[in-house]
Amino acid sequence: SEVATMMDVPVTQIISTCMMLGMMVTMNQRLDAETLQIVADEFNYTVEFVGAEVEEAIEEEEDKPEDLVTRAPIITVMGHVDHGKTSLLDYIRNANVIEGESGGITQHIGAYSVNVGDQKIAFLDTPGHEAFTAMRARGAQVTDLVIIVVAADDDVMPQTKEAISHAQAAGVPIIFAINKIDKPNANPDNIKTQLSAMNLLVEDWGGNIQSQEISAKTGQGVDELLEKVLLEAEVLELKANPNKNATGAVVEALLDKGRGYVSTILVQSGTLKIGDYILAGKHSGKVRAMFDDKGRKVKEAGPSTPVSVLGLDGAPQAGDKFNVFEDEREAKQIAAKRSQLQREQSVRTQKTLTLAEIGRRIALGDFKELNIILKGDVDGSVEALTDSFQKLSTEEIQVNIIHKGVGAITESDVLLATASDAIIVGFNVRPQGNARAVADREEVDIRTYSIIYDAINDLKDAMEGMLSPEM
Ligand code: GDP
Repeated sequence: SEVATMMDVPVTQIISTCMMLGMMVTMNQRLDAETLQIVADEFNYTVEFVGAEVEEAIEEEEDKPEDLVTRAPIITVMGHVDHGKTSLLDYIRNANVIEGESGGITQHIGAYSVNVGDQKIAFLDTPGHEAFTAMRARGAQVTDLVIIVVAADDDVMPQTKEAISHAQAAGVPIIFAINKIDKPNANPDNIKTQLSAMNLLVEDWGGNIQSQEISAKTGQGVDELLEKVLLEAEVLELKANPNKNATGAVVEALLDKGRGYVSTILVQSGTLKIGDYILAGKHSGKVRAMFDDKGRKVKEAGPSTPVSVLGLDGAPQAGDKFNVFEDEREAKQIAAKRSQLQREQSVRTQKTLTLAEIGRRIALGDFKELNIILKGDVDGSVEALTDSFQKLSTEEIQVNIIHKGVGAITESDVLLATASDAIIVGFNVRPQGNARAVADREEVDIRTYSIIYDAINDLKDAMEGMLSPEM
């Protein structure tokens, strides 16, 4: 279907061409290079594999089951502002500094790991779903589990809902930390009631979502929370092979005046060693030195270990993947190629969905689900639009409201749209702050309306393939 879109022909014609070549294919099947050439030829196109040879040069070593060992879970903490994300991350870090470790001085490098009994847990130290989804939008699925902090003296708030949507869109299990239970007006049951109203039933209410009442201030319940993290991790059977070249993702990177570019990375499999040649996004270099989250020099880093690395020739972006190369030149060449390709592609391709594009893709038959992020000024209009949009679902195409909420369209909405191939509909609200600029860059379609009828009609027209481009 991708080929059909590129050549602007119905997908059925591609399928019948393949059948003529003796190949029974489905719409979502990947065609090999040779078949692509032949099919394109039938329609008088030539094929050029942009970037494929670049990425192919990166060899991923296959793991044998016997090489895999259990690795620590990697956690992101999300939740509404002021509900206690930072306090929880700080509490966990400070409570788990073993005496004598660099006098207890921890470094903020964007991630840290703690010992719980004889096991480890790694935390991403940038709380919030913005960081989480920004990484995911760049192709990095780093987080194994999400802790969503909800203050027990407050309610399930818009950003709580956003965090839930973001975790669900990524298919990452959630554990609720119901925080601030030291406060006299704390009412954890109120939170559980509100969650159950959203079809999120916690374990002690007979559901299957873990939750723990905690105080990030006194530390009450935090050990139990970490136990539950380990329990949930056990179910996920997280494994990696430590005995190969490292791969993983960039957590953050900055230019340090004295030390040059410092990149915090999370090793996901293999072991990173000093002297390794690495490629991360558009940058490369030799690992000159590595430091753990306590600022101590280390010589190597295995799976689920965060380290800051010196030696890259630039600052890669959060979510960029990294690989190790035997040959420094090769890493350099791929980095340069990637920069060049990115420049070219940003000119040439439309990578995300627009409303005008929907009708075309439906007509080509390669479109099954329409993902929408819906923001409005009041709950009433959001609910009314949700209902109406969902009623537009047909047998061929399912309309999904993957996130909805009251308030302006934020940068995080745009990032979620990028990661989930969604369009954004705003009702009596506008993009806020950086959201417009990010949407332009990521080519996310934002539609704003002030009349419900118009919003419904536009969507209906788009689904019927009748929307004129650019309205
Ligand atoms: P964030 O915006 O989610 O990172 O929230 P913070 O961690 O910055 O916390 C917001 C405020 O709530 C701060 O003043 C914290 O001291 C306070 N706070 C966080 N957790 C607790 C808690 O468990 N109990 C009490 N009493 N206050 C807390």
